[in-house]
Amino acid sequence: MSSCIFCQIINKEQSAELVYEDEKVIAIKDINPKAPIHLLIIPKKHIPSIKEIEEQDKELMGCLVFAAKKIAKDKNLPGYKLIFNVGREGGQIIDHIHLHLLANK
Ligand code: AMP
Ligand code: ZN
Repeated sequence: MSSCIFCQIINKEQSAELVYEDEKVIAIKDINPKAPIHLLIIPKKHIPSIKEIEEQDKELMGCLVFAAKKIAKDKNLPGYKLIFNVGREGGQIIDHIHLHLLANK
C-alpha cells in the first residue's frame, strides 16, 4: 500500500467522497472544508508538488484546470477559487499535487 493518502484514495484503498473521475484525474470532497463547497482535484499520477512538475506534466496540469471547469459547470457554480498550496511554507500538508476548488455556491 502506498504511504501517500491521495494515492490510497486513487487506488480505492481508502474511502473518500468522490465527485469526479476520469482517466487522469479524480476530485473528492475535502474532509475539513474551508468553504461551503471545498473540493480537491488530484492527478492520478503521484507528483509531490508544483516544485516537481516537468515539461511532460504540462498537459496533466491542464487536465486539473479543465476538470475544475467541468465540475463547476455541472454544479452551476457562478464563481469559485482555485488554489495550489506549494511546499510547507506555502501551506501544503499533503505531498501529492492537488488543486483546491472553493465556492460559496
Ligand atoms: P494542503 O494543505 O494544500 O496540502 O491541503 C490538504 C487538504 O487535504 C486539506 O484541506 C485537508 O483537509 C484535506 N484532506 C486531508 N486528508 C483528507 C482525506 N482523507 N480526504 C479528503 N480530504 C483530506
Ligand atoms: Zn500520491
